[in-house]
Amino acid sequence: MSDLVLFWHRNDLRISDSIGLAAASRTGSRVIGVFCIDRLILGGDAIAPARVTYMLGCLKALAEDYRQAGSQLLFVDGDPVDRIPQLARTLTARAVYWHYDVEPYSQTRDERVTTALQAQNIQIHTNWDRLLHDPNAIKTGNKQPYSVYSPFWRNWNSQPKPAPVVVELPKSELTPAEIQALTQLPTIDLPTAAELGFTKAAPLILEPGTAAAAQQLAKFCSDSIAQYDEQRNYPAVAGSSVLSAALKFGTIGIRTVWAATTSAAAAASDDTARAGITTWQQELAWREFYQQAMYHFPSLAQGPYRDHFKQFPWVNDKIQFTAWCEGKTGYPIVDAAMRQLNQTGWMHNRCRMIVASFLTKDLIINWQWGEKYFMQTLIDGDLSANNGGWQWSASSGMDPKPLRIFNPYTQAQKFDRDATYIRKWVPELKSVDTKMILTGDLLPLTRHQVGYPLPIVDHSVQQRLFKELYASVKAAD
Ligand SMILES: Cc1cc2nc3c(=O)[nH]c(=O)nc-3n(C[C@H](O)[C@H](O)[C@H](O)COP(=O)(O)OP(=O)(O)OC[C@H]3O[C@@H](n4cnc5c(N)ncnc54)[C@H](O)[C@@H]3O)c2cc1C
Repeated sequence: MSDLVLFWHRNDLRISDSIGLAAASRTGSRVIGVFCIDRLILGGDAIAPARVTYMLGCLKALAEDYRQAGSQLLFVDGDPVDRIPQLARTLTARAVYWHYDVEPYSQTRDERVTTALQAQNIQIHTNWDRLLHDPNAIKTGNKQPYSVYSPFWRNWNSQPKPAPVVVELPKSELTPAEIQALTQLPTIDLPTAAELGFTKAAPLILEPGTAAAAQQLAKFCSDSIAQYDEQRNYPAVAGSSVLSAALKFGTIGIRTVWAATTSAAAAASDDTARAGITTWQQELAWREFYQQAMYHFPSLAQGPYRDHFKQFPWVNDKIQFTAWCEGKTGYPIVDAAMRQLNQTGWMHNRCRMIVASFLTKDLIINWQWGEKYFMQTLIDGDLSANNGGWQWSASSGMDPKPLRIFNPYTQAQKFDRDATYIRKWVPELKSVDTKMILTGDLLPLTRHQVGYPLPIVDHSVQQRLFKELYASVKAAD
Protein backbone atom coordinates (compact mmCIF):
# COMPACT_ATOMS: atom_id res chain seq x y z
CA MET A 1 0.00 0.00 0.00
CA SER A 2 1.18 3.51 -0.78
CA ASP A 3 0.97 6.59 1.41
CA LEU A 4 -1.98 7.78 -0.68
CA VAL A 5 -5.62 8.12 0.36
CA LEU A 6 -8.61 8.98 -1.80
CA PHE A 7 -11.43 11.32 -0.85
CA TRP A 8 -14.58 10.47 -2.82
CA HIS A 9 -16.67 13.62 -3.37
CA ARG A 10 -20.40 13.36 -3.95
CA ASN A 11 -22.63 16.13 -2.56
CA ASP A 12 -19.73 17.89 -0.84
CA LEU A 13 -17.99 19.80 -3.62
CA ARG A 14 -15.60 21.82 -1.50
CA ILE A 15 -12.35 21.52 0.43
CA SER A 16 -13.05 23.82 3.38
CA ASP A 17 -15.17 22.80 6.40
CA SER A 18 -15.17 19.17 5.29
CA ILE A 19 -15.05 16.64 8.13
CA GLY A 20 -13.82 13.77 5.97
CA LEU A 21 -11.18 15.77 4.12
CA ALA A 22 -9.90 17.15 7.42
CA ALA A 23 -9.61 13.60 8.79
CA ALA A 24 -7.88 12.36 5.62
CA SER A 25 -5.48 15.31 5.68
CA ARG A 26 -4.50 14.65 9.31
CA THR A 27 -3.19 11.17 8.47
CA GLY A 28 -0.01 12.57 6.92
CA SER A 29 -0.77 10.70 3.69
CA ARG A 30 -1.14 12.30 0.29
CA VAL A 31 -4.81 13.09 -0.34
CA ILE A 32 -6.24 12.89 -3.85
CA GLY A 33 -9.86 13.73 -4.61
CA VAL A 34 -12.10 11.74 -6.91
CA PHE A 35 -15.54 12.35 -8.38
CA CYS A 36 -17.41 9.69 -10.33
CA ILE A 37 -19.68 10.75 -13.18
CA ASP A 38 -22.43 8.32 -12.23
CA ARG A 39 -24.33 7.34 -15.35
CA LEU A 40 -27.01 5.60 -13.28
CA ILE A 41 -27.96 8.94 -11.74
CA LEU A 42 -27.50 11.00 -14.89
CA GLY A 43 -29.37 8.47 -17.02
CA GLY A 44 -32.44 8.59 -14.75
CA ASP A 45 -35.65 10.37 -15.71
CA ALA A 46 -35.63 12.93 -12.89
CA ILE A 47 -32.58 14.96 -13.84
CA ALA A 48 -32.64 18.69 -14.53
CA PRO A 49 -30.24 20.09 -17.15
CA ALA A 50 -29.82 23.22 -14.98
CA ARG A 51 -28.75 21.08 -12.03
CA VAL A 52 -26.22 19.13 -14.10
CA THR A 53 -24.75 22.34 -15.51
CA TYR A 54 -24.51 23.84 -12.04
CA MET A 55 -22.87 20.68 -10.68
CA LEU A 56 -20.29 20.65 -13.50
CA GLY A 57 -19.47 24.29 -12.73
CA CYS A 58 -18.95 23.38 -9.07
CA LEU A 59 -16.68 20.49 -10.08
CA LYS A 60 -14.61 22.76 -12.32
CA ALA A 61 -14.11 25.16 -9.40
CA LEU A 62 -13.29 22.26 -7.05
CA ALA A 63 -10.67 20.87 -9.47
CA GLU A 64 -9.05 24.32 -9.50
CA ASP A 65 -9.09 24.47 -5.67
CA TYR A 66 -7.32 21.09 -5.56
CA ARG A 67 -4.75 22.28 -8.10
CA GLN A 68 -4.03 25.40 -6.07
CA ALA A 69 -3.57 23.29 -2.95
CA GLY A 70 -0.95 21.22 -4.81
CA SER A 71 -3.19 18.19 -5.16
CA GLN A 72 -5.56 16.82 -7.76
CA LEU A 73 -9.20 15.97 -8.35
CA LEU A 74 -9.60 12.95 -10.60
CA PHE A 75 -12.73 12.18 -12.61
CA VAL A 76 -13.90 8.68 -13.39
CA ASP A 77 -16.88 7.77 -15.50
CA GLY A 78 -19.32 4.91 -14.95
CA ASP A 79 -20.74 2.92 -12.06
CA PRO A 80 -19.02 4.00 -8.80
CA VAL A 81 -19.34 0.45 -7.49
CA ASP A 82 -16.74 -0.54 -10.11
CA ARG A 83 -14.86 2.69 -10.59
CA ILE A 84 -13.99 3.69 -7.00
CA PRO A 85 -12.49 0.32 -6.01
CA GLN A 86 -10.76 0.13 -9.41
CA LEU A 87 -9.14 3.54 -8.92
CA ALA A 88 -8.14 2.72 -5.34
CA ARG A 89 -6.55 -0.53 -6.53
CA THR A 90 -4.73 1.14 -9.43
CA LEU A 91 -3.21 3.77 -7.15
CA THR A 92 -2.65 1.20 -4.36
CA ALA A 93 -4.49 3.63 -2.09
CA ARG A 94 -4.38 2.89 1.61
CA ALA A 95 -7.87 4.18 2.33
CA VAL A 96 -10.93 5.78 0.81
CA TYR A 97 -12.86 8.49 2.68
CA TRP A 98 -16.37 9.73 2.02
CA HIS A 99 -19.37 11.30 3.70
CA TYR A 100 -22.62 9.52 4.46
CA ASP A 101 -25.70 10.30 2.44
CA VAL A 102 -29.33 9.80 3.45
CA GLU A 103 -30.76 8.81 0.06
CA PRO A 104 -31.72 5.14 -0.45
CA TYR A 105 -29.80 4.84 -3.76
CA SER A 106 -26.66 6.29 -2.19
CA GLN A 107 -26.84 4.02 0.82
CA THR A 108 -27.10 0.88 -1.32
CA ARG A 109 -24.31 2.10 -3.60
CA ASP A 110 -22.06 2.88 -0.62
CA GLU A 111 -22.62 -0.57 0.88
CA ARG A 112 -21.56 -2.15 -2.40
CA VAL A 113 -18.47 0.06 -2.69
CA THR A 114 -17.61 -0.81 0.92
CA THR A 115 -17.83 -4.54 0.19
CA ALA A 116 -15.62 -4.19 -2.89
CA LEU A 117 -13.00 -2.12 -1.05
CA GLN A 118 -12.97 -4.46 1.94
CA ALA A 119 -12.34 -7.36 -0.43
CA GLN A 120 -9.19 -5.49 -1.51
CA ASN A 121 -8.15 -4.76 2.10
CA ILE A 122 -8.52 -1.05 1.54
CA GLN A 123 -9.63 0.92 4.58
CA ILE A 124 -12.87 2.89 4.58
CA HIS A 125 -13.50 6.03 6.62
CA THR A 126 -16.94 7.58 6.64
CA ASN A 127 -18.44 10.58 8.46
CA TRP A 128 -21.64 12.57 8.69
CA ASP A 129 -20.86 15.93 7.20
CA ARG A 130 -23.86 17.42 5.41
CA LEU A 131 -25.99 17.76 8.53
CA LEU A 132 -25.30 19.58 11.78
CA HIS A 133 -26.51 16.48 13.61
CA ASP A 134 -26.18 12.82 12.70
CA PRO A 135 -29.77 11.60 12.05
CA ASN A 136 -29.28 8.97 14.75
CA ALA A 137 -28.50 11.65 17.33
CA ILE A 138 -31.84 13.47 17.31
CA LYS A 139 -34.55 11.09 18.54
CA THR A 140 -37.72 11.31 20.59
CA GLY A 141 -37.79 10.39 24.30
CA ASN A 142 -38.68 6.84 23.15
CA LYS A 143 -35.59 6.74 20.93
CA GLN A 144 -37.73 6.93 17.81
CA PRO A 145 -37.08 9.17 14.79
CA TYR A 146 -39.21 12.29 14.68
CA SER A 147 -42.16 12.43 12.32
CA VAL A 148 -43.37 15.89 13.35
CA TYR A 149 -41.27 18.99 12.77
CA SER A 150 -41.98 21.15 15.86
CA PRO A 151 -40.65 18.73 18.52
CA PHE A 152 -37.78 17.87 16.16
CA TRP A 153 -36.89 21.56 15.96
CA ARG A 154 -37.00 21.98 19.75
CA ASN A 155 -34.67 19.03 20.33
CA TRP A 156 -32.40 19.88 17.36
CA ASN A 157 -32.15 23.52 18.40
CA SER A 158 -31.25 22.65 21.97
CA GLN A 159 -28.17 20.64 20.90
CA PRO A 160 -24.76 22.37 20.73
CA LYS A 161 -23.72 22.94 17.14
CA PRO A 162 -20.32 21.88 15.78
CA ALA A 163 -17.89 24.60 14.67
CA PRO A 164 -16.52 24.77 11.09
CA VAL A 165 -13.67 22.35 10.47
CA VAL A 166 -10.23 23.53 9.37
CA VAL A 167 -8.82 21.49 6.48
CA GLU A 168 -5.10 21.59 5.73
CA LEU A 169 -4.94 19.61 2.55
CA PRO A 170 -1.36 18.35 2.10
CA LYS A 171 0.52 18.89 -1.14
CA SER A 172 -0.15 15.57 -2.85
CA GLU A 173 1.55 14.97 -6.15
CA LEU A 174 1.09 11.73 -8.04
CA THR A 175 4.32 9.84 -8.77
CA PRO A 176 5.29 9.06 -12.40
CA ALA A 177 4.41 5.40 -11.74
CA GLU A 178 0.94 6.37 -10.50
CA ILE A 179 0.39 8.65 -13.49
CA GLN A 180 1.40 5.77 -15.74
CA ALA A 181 -0.96 3.40 -13.90
CA LEU A 182 -3.84 5.85 -14.37
CA THR A 183 -3.53 5.55 -18.14
CA GLN A 184 -4.96 2.02 -17.75
CA LEU A 185 -8.14 3.47 -16.27
CA PRO A 186 -11.09 5.36 -17.69
CA THR A 187 -10.19 8.59 -15.87
CA ILE A 188 -11.56 11.45 -17.92
CA ASP A 189 -11.44 15.21 -18.23
CA LEU A 190 -14.44 16.98 -16.74
CA PRO A 191 -17.16 16.68 -19.41
CA THR A 192 -19.51 19.45 -20.47
CA ALA A 193 -23.28 19.19 -20.02
CA ALA A 194 -23.65 18.73 -23.79
CA GLU A 195 -21.14 15.85 -23.74
CA LEU A 196 -23.31 14.22 -21.08
CA GLY A 197 -26.34 14.60 -23.35
CA PHE A 198 -27.89 17.70 -21.74
CA THR A 199 -28.12 19.94 -24.75
CA LYS A 200 -30.99 22.13 -23.62
CA ALA A 201 -29.49 23.50 -20.41
CA ALA A 202 -31.02 26.84 -19.39
CA PRO A 203 -28.58 29.69 -18.72
CA LEU A 204 -27.37 29.42 -15.11
CA ILE A 205 -28.92 31.90 -12.70
CA LEU A 206 -26.39 31.05 -10.00
CA GLU A 207 -22.62 31.19 -10.04
CA PRO A 208 -21.37 27.69 -9.17
CA GLY A 209 -18.54 26.93 -6.74
CA THR A 210 -17.41 27.66 -3.21
CA ALA A 211 -16.37 31.30 -3.69
CA ALA A 212 -19.81 32.21 -5.03
CA ALA A 213 -21.58 30.32 -2.22
CA ALA A 214 -19.48 32.09 0.43
CA GLN A 215 -20.25 35.47 -1.15
CA GLN A 216 -23.95 34.65 -1.31
CA LEU A 217 -23.99 33.70 2.38
CA ALA A 218 -22.12 36.87 3.38
CA LYS A 219 -24.46 39.07 1.31
CA PHE A 220 -27.57 37.41 2.73
CA CYS A 221 -26.30 37.79 6.31
CA SER A 222 -25.42 41.46 5.81
CA ASP A 223 -28.44 42.54 3.70
CA SER A 224 -31.43 40.27 4.28
CA ILE A 225 -31.33 37.86 7.22
CA ALA A 226 -32.55 40.48 9.67
CA GLN A 227 -35.72 41.02 7.61
CA TYR A 228 -36.10 37.37 6.64
CA ASP A 229 -39.07 36.65 8.90
CA GLU A 230 -41.29 38.93 6.84
CA GLN A 231 -39.54 39.28 3.49
CA ARG A 232 -39.14 35.56 2.82
CA ASN A 233 -42.80 35.36 1.81
CA TYR A 234 -42.73 37.76 -1.13
CA PRO A 235 -41.62 36.21 -4.40
CA ALA A 236 -40.93 39.60 -6.00
CA VAL A 237 -38.44 40.46 -3.22
CA ALA A 238 -34.92 39.02 -2.92
CA GLY A 239 -35.61 38.11 0.71
CA SER A 240 -34.25 34.56 0.96
CA SER A 241 -30.70 33.30 0.71
CA VAL A 242 -30.91 31.36 -2.59
CA LEU A 243 -28.36 28.99 -1.07
CA SER A 244 -30.34 25.81 -1.72
CA ALA A 245 -28.23 24.68 -4.70
CA ALA A 246 -25.01 25.39 -2.77
CA LEU A 247 -26.34 23.38 0.17
CA LYS A 248 -27.50 20.58 -2.12
CA PHE A 249 -24.05 20.19 -3.72
CA GLY A 250 -22.16 21.08 -0.56
CA THR A 251 -20.21 24.01 -1.96
CA ILE A 252 -20.63 25.50 1.48
CA GLY A 253 -20.26 23.57 4.74
CA ILE A 254 -23.31 23.49 6.98
CA ARG A 255 -21.18 24.37 10.05
CA THR A 256 -19.94 27.48 8.23
CA VAL A 257 -23.54 28.42 7.46
CA TRP A 258 -24.59 27.93 11.07
CA ALA A 259 -21.61 29.94 12.36
CA ALA A 260 -22.71 32.81 10.09
CA THR A 261 -26.15 32.75 11.71
CA THR A 262 -24.74 32.87 15.22
CA SER A 263 -22.46 35.80 14.26
CA ALA A 264 -25.46 37.57 12.77
CA ALA A 265 -27.43 36.89 15.97
CA ALA A 266 -24.61 38.30 18.09
CA ALA A 267 -24.63 41.48 15.99
CA ALA A 268 -28.44 41.77 15.83
CA SER A 269 -29.71 45.11 17.07
CA ASP A 270 -33.39 44.39 17.69
CA ASP A 271 -36.04 41.73 18.08
CA THR A 272 -37.04 41.87 14.41
CA ALA A 273 -33.51 40.96 13.38
CA ARG A 274 -33.33 38.20 15.99
CA ALA A 275 -36.67 36.81 14.79
CA GLY A 276 -35.41 36.83 11.19
CA ILE A 277 -32.31 34.88 12.14
CA THR A 278 -34.25 32.32 14.18
CA THR A 279 -36.72 31.81 11.35
CA TRP A 280 -33.87 31.20 8.93
CA GLN A 281 -32.29 28.73 11.37
CA GLN A 282 -35.66 26.96 11.39
CA GLU A 283 -35.41 26.56 7.62
CA LEU A 284 -32.03 24.91 8.05
CA ALA A 285 -33.75 22.62 10.55
CA TRP A 286 -36.47 21.80 7.97
CA ARG A 287 -33.69 20.72 5.67
CA GLU A 288 -32.31 18.40 8.37
CA PHE A 289 -35.81 17.22 9.35
CA TYR A 290 -36.50 16.00 5.82
CA GLN A 291 -33.06 14.41 5.52
CA GLN A 292 -33.41 12.48 8.77
CA ALA A 293 -36.91 11.47 7.61
CA MET A 294 -35.53 10.07 4.34
CA TYR A 295 -32.79 8.27 6.26
CA HIS A 296 -35.15 6.64 8.76
CA PHE A 297 -38.12 6.11 6.40
CA PRO A 298 -36.60 5.36 2.98
CA SER A 299 -40.01 4.27 1.65
CA LEU A 300 -40.87 8.00 1.50
CA ALA A 301 -38.93 8.05 -1.77
CA GLN A 302 -41.45 5.61 -3.26
CA GLY A 303 -44.78 6.94 -2.05
CA PRO A 304 -46.91 8.57 0.63
CA TYR A 305 -45.96 8.36 4.28
CA ARG A 306 -49.63 7.83 5.21
CA ASP A 307 -50.92 4.43 4.17
CA HIS A 308 -54.47 5.56 3.46
CA PHE A 309 -53.09 7.95 0.87
CA LYS A 310 -51.91 5.05 -1.30
CA GLN A 311 -55.55 4.55 -2.33
CA PHE A 312 -56.27 8.21 -3.04
CA PRO A 313 -58.45 8.44 -6.20
CA TRP A 314 -56.41 11.02 -8.09
CA VAL A 315 -58.02 12.43 -11.21
CA ASN A 316 -54.65 12.62 -13.05
CA ASP A 317 -55.80 14.54 -16.11
CA LYS A 318 -52.80 14.66 -18.47
CA ILE A 319 -53.96 17.75 -20.35
CA GLN A 320 -54.33 19.69 -17.11
CA PHE A 321 -50.93 18.42 -15.97
CA THR A 322 -49.36 19.79 -19.17
CA ALA A 323 -51.09 23.15 -18.59
CA TRP A 324 -49.66 23.21 -15.05
CA CYS A 325 -46.15 22.35 -16.28
CA GLU A 326 -46.26 25.01 -18.97
CA GLY A 327 -47.71 27.75 -16.76
CA LYS A 328 -51.00 27.92 -18.67
CA THR A 329 -53.60 27.15 -16.01
CA GLY A 330 -55.30 30.56 -16.16
CA TYR A 331 -54.35 31.19 -12.49
CA PRO A 332 -51.78 34.01 -12.69
CA ILE A 333 -49.72 33.25 -9.56
CA VAL A 334 -49.48 29.56 -10.48
CA ASP A 335 -48.50 30.34 -14.05
CA ALA A 336 -45.92 32.95 -13.01
CA ALA A 337 -44.27 30.45 -10.69
CA MET A 338 -44.18 27.62 -13.22
CA ARG A 339 -42.75 29.91 -15.87
CA GLN A 340 -40.07 31.11 -13.42
CA LEU A 341 -39.19 27.46 -12.83
CA ASN A 342 -39.11 26.60 -16.54
CA GLN A 343 -37.01 29.61 -17.48
CA THR A 344 -34.55 29.70 -14.57
CA GLY A 345 -34.56 26.30 -12.82
CA TRP A 346 -35.52 28.00 -9.54
CA MET A 347 -38.75 28.92 -7.81
CA HIS A 348 -39.49 30.90 -4.66
CA ASN A 349 -40.56 28.79 -1.65
CA ARG A 350 -43.96 30.50 -1.30
CA CYS A 351 -44.64 29.69 -4.95
CA ARG A 352 -43.48 26.08 -4.56
CA MET A 353 -46.18 25.71 -1.91
CA ILE A 354 -48.80 27.44 -4.07
CA VAL A 355 -48.17 25.39 -7.22
CA ALA A 356 -47.91 22.15 -5.24
CA SER A 357 -51.22 22.85 -3.52
CA PHE A 358 -52.77 23.74 -6.87
CA LEU A 359 -51.58 20.53 -8.54
CA THR A 360 -52.74 18.27 -5.73
CA LYS A 361 -55.82 20.04 -4.33
CA ASP A 362 -57.20 21.90 -7.38
CA LEU A 363 -56.21 19.60 -10.23
CA ILE A 364 -56.32 16.52 -7.96
CA ILE A 365 -53.21 15.14 -9.64
CA ASN A 366 -50.90 12.74 -7.81
CA TRP A 367 -48.21 14.74 -5.99
CA GLN A 368 -45.58 12.33 -7.35
CA TRP A 369 -46.10 13.77 -10.85
CA GLY A 370 -45.25 17.20 -9.49
CA GLU A 371 -42.37 15.84 -7.43
CA LYS A 372 -40.84 14.34 -10.56
CA TYR A 373 -41.40 17.46 -12.67
CA PHE A 374 -39.61 19.52 -10.02
CA MET A 375 -36.67 17.11 -10.05
CA GLN A 376 -36.58 17.42 -13.85
CA THR A 377 -36.34 21.22 -13.66
CA LEU A 378 -34.96 22.48 -10.33
CA ILE A 379 -31.34 23.63 -10.01
CA ASP A 380 -31.55 22.71 -6.30
CA GLY A 381 -33.64 19.53 -6.80
CA ASP A 382 -32.98 17.37 -3.77
CA LEU A 383 -34.80 14.12 -3.02
CA SER A 384 -35.37 14.75 0.70
CA ALA A 385 -36.40 18.43 0.54
CA ASN A 386 -38.48 17.98 -2.59
CA ASN A 387 -40.25 14.85 -1.37
CA GLY A 388 -40.85 16.50 2.00
CA GLY A 389 -42.23 19.65 0.37
CA TRP A 390 -44.54 17.67 -1.90
CA GLN A 391 -45.82 15.36 0.82
CA TRP A 392 -46.41 18.39 3.08
CA SER A 393 -48.37 20.10 0.30
CA ALA A 394 -50.37 17.00 -0.62
CA SER A 395 -51.16 16.24 3.06
CA SER A 396 -49.83 12.73 2.46
CA GLY A 397 -46.79 13.22 4.65
CA MET A 398 -45.76 13.19 8.25
CA ASP A 399 -47.36 16.45 9.28
CA PRO A 400 -50.79 16.51 7.57
CA LYS A 401 -52.66 18.85 9.92
CA PRO A 402 -54.28 21.19 9.24
CA LEU A 403 -55.52 20.04 5.84
CA ARG A 404 -53.77 22.72 3.79
CA ILE A 405 -55.53 24.03 0.71
CA PHE A 406 -54.07 27.24 -0.67
CA ASN A 407 -56.42 29.62 -2.44
CA PRO A 408 -54.31 30.92 -5.35
CA TYR A 409 -56.11 34.28 -5.32
CA THR A 410 -55.73 35.03 -1.62
CA GLN A 411 -52.11 33.88 -1.82
CA ALA A 412 -51.47 36.35 -4.66
CA GLN A 413 -53.29 39.14 -2.79
CA LYS A 414 -51.20 38.59 0.33
CA PHE A 415 -47.80 37.90 -1.16
CA ASP A 416 -47.73 39.67 -4.54
CA ARG A 417 -49.83 42.67 -3.61
CA ASP A 418 -49.05 44.79 -6.67
CA ALA A 419 -48.68 41.78 -9.02
CA THR A 420 -45.01 42.61 -9.72
CA TYR A 421 -43.99 38.97 -9.66
CA ILE A 422 -46.95 37.88 -11.80
CA ARG A 423 -46.34 40.56 -14.42
CA LYS A 424 -42.63 39.67 -14.60
CA TRP A 425 -43.29 36.05 -15.52
CA VAL A 426 -46.67 36.40 -17.26
CA PRO A 427 -45.94 39.37 -19.52
CA GLU A 428 -49.29 39.13 -21.33
CA LEU A 429 -50.86 40.45 -18.10
CA LYS A 430 -48.52 43.48 -17.98
CA SER A 431 -51.18 46.04 -18.85
CA VAL A 432 -54.08 44.33 -17.05
CA ASP A 433 -55.50 45.97 -13.91
CA THR A 434 -53.80 44.71 -10.71
CA LYS A 435 -57.06 44.01 -8.90
CA MET A 436 -58.32 41.92 -11.80
CA ILE A 437 -55.09 39.89 -11.85
CA LEU A 438 -55.15 39.28 -8.11
CA THR A 439 -58.84 38.44 -7.76
CA GLY A 440 -59.16 36.47 -10.96
CA ASP A 441 -61.96 38.73 -12.12
CA LEU A 442 -60.58 38.67 -15.60
CA LEU A 443 -63.33 38.57 -18.19
CA PRO A 444 -63.04 35.86 -20.82
CA LEU A 445 -62.85 38.62 -23.44
CA THR A 446 -59.92 40.31 -21.66
CA ARG A 447 -58.15 36.98 -21.35
CA HIS A 448 -58.73 36.38 -25.03
CA GLN A 449 -57.50 39.86 -26.00
CA VAL A 450 -54.20 39.55 -24.12
CA GLY A 451 -53.72 35.88 -25.02
CA TYR A 452 -54.08 34.51 -21.48
CA PRO A 453 -55.99 31.23 -20.90
CA LEU A 454 -59.28 30.73 -19.09
CA PRO A 455 -58.96 28.99 -15.69
CA ILE A 456 -58.73 25.25 -16.34
CA VAL A 457 -60.69 24.46 -13.15
CA ASP A 458 -62.84 26.28 -10.62
CA HIS A 459 -60.97 26.56 -7.31
CA SER A 460 -64.04 26.50 -5.05
CA VAL A 461 -65.53 23.45 -6.79
CA GLN A 462 -62.23 21.58 -6.77
CA GLN A 463 -61.39 22.21 -3.14
CA ARG A 464 -64.78 20.81 -2.12
CA LEU A 465 -64.16 17.76 -4.27
CA PHE A 466 -60.70 17.28 -2.79
CA LYS A 467 -62.08 17.47 0.76
CA GLU A 468 -64.73 14.85 -0.07
CA LEU A 469 -62.17 12.51 -1.59
CA TYR A 470 -59.82 13.05 1.33
CA ALA A 471 -62.58 12.29 3.85
CA SER A 472 -63.63 9.14 1.96
CA VAL A 473 -60.09 7.81 1.87
CA LYS A 474 -59.58 8.51 5.57
CA ALA A 475 -62.90 6.87 6.44
CA ALA A 476 -61.92 3.72 4.53
CA ASP A 477 -58.62 3.51 6.42
C1 LIG B 1 -43.14 21.41 -3.17
C2 LIG B 1 -41.78 21.84 -2.66
C3 LIG B 1 -40.63 21.33 -3.24
C4 LIG B 1 -39.37 21.71 -2.77
N1 LIG B 1 -38.24 21.18 -3.38
C5 LIG B 1 -37.02 21.50 -2.88
C6 LIG B 1 -35.85 20.94 -3.45
O1 LIG B 1 -35.90 20.12 -4.38
N2 LIG B 1 -34.64 21.32 -2.95
C7 LIG B 1 -34.54 22.21 -1.92
O2 LIG B 1 -33.42 22.53 -1.50
N3 LIG B 1 -35.63 22.73 -1.35
C8 LIG B 1 -36.87 22.41 -1.80
N4 LIG B 1 -37.97 22.97 -1.22
C9 LIG B 1 -37.81 23.82 -0.03
C10 LIG B 1 -37.65 25.33 -0.32
O3 LIG B 1 -38.65 25.75 -1.21
C11 LIG B 1 -36.28 25.68 -0.89
O4 LIG B 1 -35.27 25.13 -0.11
C12 LIG B 1 -36.09 27.21 -0.90
O5 LIG B 1 -37.09 27.82 -1.67
C13 LIG B 1 -34.74 27.53 -1.48
O6 LIG B 1 -34.55 28.92 -1.49
P1 LIG B 1 -33.50 29.60 -0.52
O7 LIG B 1 -32.19 28.93 -0.64
O8 LIG B 1 -33.54 31.05 -0.82
O9 LIG B 1 -34.12 29.28 0.89
P2 LIG B 1 -34.01 30.04 2.29
O10 LIG B 1 -35.37 30.52 2.59
O11 LIG B 1 -32.92 31.01 2.31
O12 LIG B 1 -33.70 28.84 3.30
C14 LIG B 1 -32.35 28.45 3.62
C15 LIG B 1 -32.12 27.00 3.29
O13 LIG B 1 -32.91 26.18 4.13
C16 LIG B 1 -33.32 25.03 3.40
N5 LIG B 1 -34.78 25.03 3.34
C17 LIG B 1 -35.60 26.10 3.35
N6 LIG B 1 -36.88 25.72 3.35
C18 LIG B 1 -36.88 24.38 3.32
C19 LIG B 1 -37.89 23.39 3.30
N7 LIG B 1 -39.19 23.70 3.34
N8 LIG B 1 -37.53 22.10 3.24
C20 LIG B 1 -36.23 21.76 3.23
N9 LIG B 1 -35.23 22.64 3.24
C21 LIG B 1 -35.54 23.93 3.29
C22 LIG B 1 -32.73 25.13 2.01
O14 LIG B 1 -31.53 24.40 2.00
C23 LIG B 1 -32.49 26.62 1.88
O15 LIG B 1 -31.47 26.95 0.98
C24 LIG B 1 -39.26 22.61 -1.69
C25 LIG B 1 -40.42 23.12 -1.11
C26 LIG B 1 -41.67 22.75 -1.59
C27 LIG B 1 -42.91 23.32 -0.96
